[in-house]
This record gives sequence, structure tokens and C-alpha cells, in this order.
Amino acid sequence: MSDYNVVVIGAGPAGYVAAIRCSQLHKKVACIDKWSDNNGKASLGGTCLNVGCIPSKALLDSSHHYYFSQKKAAEHGIQYQNLNFDIATMQARKNKIVKTLTQGIASLFKKNKITHLHGTARFIDGQQIEISNADGKSTVTADNIIIATGSVPTNIPIATIDNNFIVDSTGALNFQTVPKRLGVIGAGAIGLELGSVWSRLGSQVTILEAMPDFLAMADQKIALAARRELKKQGLQIHTGTNVSSAIIENEEVLITYQDNKGEQQLTVDKLIVAVGRKPNTENLGAAEIGIKIDQGGFIQVNQQRQTAMANIYAIGDVIGGPMLAHKGSEEGVMVAEQLAGKKTEMSYDTVPFVIYTWPEIAWVGKTEAQLKADNVNYKLGQFPFIASGRAKAHGDTSGMVRILADSVTDQILGVHIFGISASELISEAVVAMELEASAEDLARIIHAHPTLSEALHEAALGVDGRMIHA
Ligand code: FAD
Ligand code: NAD
Repeated sequence: MSDYNVVVIGAGPAGYVAAIRCSQLHKKVACIDKWSDNNGKASLGGTCLNVGCIPSKALLDSSHHYYFSQKKAAEHGIQYQNLNFDIATMQARKNKIVKTLTQGIASLFKKNKITHLHGTARFIDGQQIEISNADGKSTVTADNIIIATGSVPTNIPIATIDNNFIVDSTGALNFQTVPKRLGVIGAGAIGLELGSVWSRLGSQVTILEAMPDFLAMADQKIALAARRELKKQGLQIHTGTNVSSAIIENEEVLITYQDNKGEQQLTVDKLIVAVGRKPNTENLGAAEIGIKIDQGGFIQVNQQRQTAMANIYAIGDVIGGPMLAHKGSEEGVMVAEQLAGKKTEMSYDTVPFVIYTWPEIAWVGKTEAQLKADNVNYKLGQFPFIASGRAKAHGDTSGMVRILADSVTDQILGVHIFGISASELISEAVVAMELEASAEDLARIIHAHPTLSEALHEAALGVDGRMIHA
């Protein structure tokens, strides 16, 4: 008999959620995770809680408060004398939030009677896992195993991370002083979010993006509006660049890149490399026991998230698709329920994307470009936040809501938002799309006044050409 019904490898948002759901469904569960904090103590929650979603949002909020106080408070009649910030306090606040939440996962494990095994897991065979930690090696056995080992930052050879002058996202969350000149390679979610943090605190930020389009995966009207707004805030974003070298010299980073004007030089005090993340299967021994891994290093799974070994599943960043915490968590629920004999599936078409700039960028479903490429005839409703009473009251009127609906059936196919609280507003669009709502359904639903959600309502009315306030 095995030690456990289920062993989960990795306690990020995919793994810890899978472990909790398995336990709720009466499985005997252990979760192996190797993450340690700066004091060498186990810290659950994976990338998301330790060095990802949570610490980045903590710094985004702190830096926004400072930016607001400096640039926007006066128009509300609020004046500060000697406005200042203390980076050490800001970092300590962030670290405290991380500690509280990671300890929260430990409490949830205790409450759900999940055994937490701290160490690095490696497959011995399809049912035995070796765990290495400071105390040595041990072995556990399980009937079923869920791999949720996540991802790590992608490195590029032309910019070697030294964790001082050239850093990845983890280093960029831990700057103890504000760099005067900050370079970022990659204008994706991390580049824009961490670029925003340090720009609001006073860095001159230059972002170098390889793709010719800014935010190529987003609706391009939204991307254009966001780029304009970020430029106003001081973020210099150069698209269509090819960085050929980044050399540390005299405590500076000298960057050479090519754009359509030829070779360019940029000198910065710190450089963040944010060019994506790669799956984490190093030293896991997965391939050795017959689990299939594709060329990009992602574990290959079928619709049930089952690997080539029938009793072993994989979820979260390590299997690819959108590298998002909520996508991994939902896969965790789905696999746990399958292991308990329930029939579950999840809808990848309605995974929401959010980039936490100010204001935020959020979307779900298809973009206009994708619909055109798929030859789908669509109608568009677009409502600007400048016409929203609530956005005006907030003093944040940039951006818009765009709703795309099938021109025949009126079914909502995509919703794209750039504006204040887009991260919260997008949930209404996700619910509508999950329930296969038409734009008319959304247009007929009463929205409270004055709220930002009225912008969604108006955009839905706009699909039928009958907006009231614009
Ligand atoms: P992870 O969170 O990476 O967890 C994997 C865990 O497995 C880790 O603890 C790791 O140490 C452990 N592990 C790996 N190998 C082994 C082994 N052999 N033995 C034992 N343990 C092992 N996503 C969002 O949805 N929203 C956001 O706002 C957001 N912001 C982000 C900001 C930043 C700066 C970064 C870097 C990422 C952000 N992400 C965000 C992405 C999000 O963090 C990931 O999509 C998510 O953490 C993936 O979850 P996961 O459980 O698959 O893997
Ligand atoms: P990303 O894939 O979002 O963006 C990387 C960017 O770097 C892309 O625009 C890409 O074109 C560019 N790039 C790649 N190679 C380059 C090069 N050599 N030179 C210049 N540009 C280059 O990746 P990320 O920003 O590193 O984030 C990693 C993952 O974490 C993403 O999958 C993202 O979904 C997730 N994440 C999500 C959030 C969020 O949900 N708010 C926040 C942060 C990170």
C-alpha cells in the first residue's frame, strides 16, 4: 500500500489548490515543495506568493499611492508638504504580506490535514519519489502524483543575470534603492508592471521590446491607448528592438540594440530581464520514467491533464498555456475532482488576462485581429471612461471598454478593457461569456449607478448602436 493516495509536487497556486481539493475529497495527501525563504525556512505558495503575483501587487499599490500623492492629489484639493517615501518600509510591508500569505497556506494545509514535505522531489519510478533536503534523503510512495513544479525566468545569453546590475523579476522586486536609470528587456506583463513600480518612484525607465507591436496578444486599440498613457507616465517603450549585448562596466550596464534607425546605445544603472518564463522540470527525473516533455520543456498532457504515465498528472505553468496563477489553480481543482471520480472540465476560452499597470489592462476571449483572421463577422461596442460619471469622480478617465459580439448570434466573443479597476470589471465579462450571453443580455442587465461597470453596460448597448452616454 502507498504512503499517500495523492502526492503533489509543488505548492504554487496550481499545486496547493490541487492538494486542498484532493483532501476535501477525502484523499490522503502530501505536498512536496522546495521553496525556502531568506532564512532557509519553508515558504509555501510557489512563485505567485513568494516572488510573483503578490509581492509585485504590493509594490504596485505602494508606488501608486506615492504617484497619486505626487501627481493627482492636488486636483482633489489635497496638498502634501515634504512628500517622501521610504523604500525600506515599502519593502518591509511587501515582505510582511508575503509572509502572512505563505504562512496562511501552511495553516490551510494543517486545517486540511495535508502533509507538507519540505525538499526537492525526484521521481524514482511511477509511484516512488525521492525527497532531498538538509536532513538527507527520504522516499514517499503514492497511488497518484500531480506535478505542479511551475516555471522559472527565461535567461538570454546576451544579458547574464548577476543579481546586482542585471536582474530577473525576483531581483527587481528587491531593489533597496531606486535606480536612477532603469532598463527593461521585454514589454510583457512583468516589464510593464515592474517598470511602472520603479518609474512611479522616480526611475527613468526604458523598455526594449523585440516584437514590432506593443502587447501583440492584446486588442491593438487597447494596446495603443495603454502605450500612450504609459508614455505620459514616463515609460519609454521601444518596440521592434534587437538587443545584441548588455555589459556591466564601471557600475553601469551598457546596452547595445538595433532598431529601424540602426544601432543604438543605452546606459542604465540596473537592467531587468523580463522575456518570459520557462517550465521547471530540471532534475525532476520525469523524462527518465517515461513522462513526455516537449521541445520547450513543457510536460505533455491529454485533456484530463494526464501525462504519458496514467497515474501521473501535470498542471499549472509546467504544462504551458497561459502562465497565470488562476489557470493553474483551476487545473488543480479539475484534476483533484477527476481523481475522486467526478467528471470535470475547464474552459480555456474564458481565462481572463490582466496587466496591473495604472490604469489596468484586462481582457477575455478573442481580439478583433483574431476574429478577422478566423473570418468571423462581428459587431463592436466601445465606451470611453471619459464619459463615465464614476471614472470622472475618481479622476481617472483614461481608457475604454470594447465588446466584440458575433454579428449574427450577438454572442459575446471578446471583452477588452483599459481603465481603472479593469481587473475587477473583467469578471463580469468572464461570467457573461461563460454563460454564453449575448451583448443584448448584458445591455438588459441593470447596473448600479454610478459605477465603473456602467461602462460595460454602455459598451454592450453600443454593440447595437444605442449607447446612452456617448
Ligand atoms: P509555481 O508558482 O512556480 O510553483 C511551483 C512550485 O514548485 C515552487 O514552489 C517550486 O519551488 C516548486 N518546485 C519546483 N520543482 C520542484 C521539485 N523538484 N521538488 C519540489 N518542489 C519543486 N500570474 C497571475 O495570474 N497574476 C499575476 O498578477 C501574476 N503576477 C506575476 C508577477 C511576477 C513578477 C511573476 C514572476 C509571475 C506572475 N504571475 C502572475 C505568474 C504566476 O506567478 C504563475 O503563473 C504561477 O505562480 C504558476 O503557478 P504554478 O503553481 O504552476 O507554479
Ligand atoms: P511575457 O511573455 O508576458 O512577456 C515577455 C516579453 O518579452 C514579450 O513581449 C516578448 O516579445 C519580449 N521578448 C522576448 N525576448 C525578447 C528579447 N530578446 N528582447 C526583447 N524582448 C523580448 O513574459 P514576462 O513579462 O516575463 O512574464 C512571465 C510570465 O509571467 C508570463 O507568462 C505572464 O503571463 C506571467 N505574469 C503575469 C502577470 C499578470 O497576470 N498580471 C504579471 C507578471 C507575470
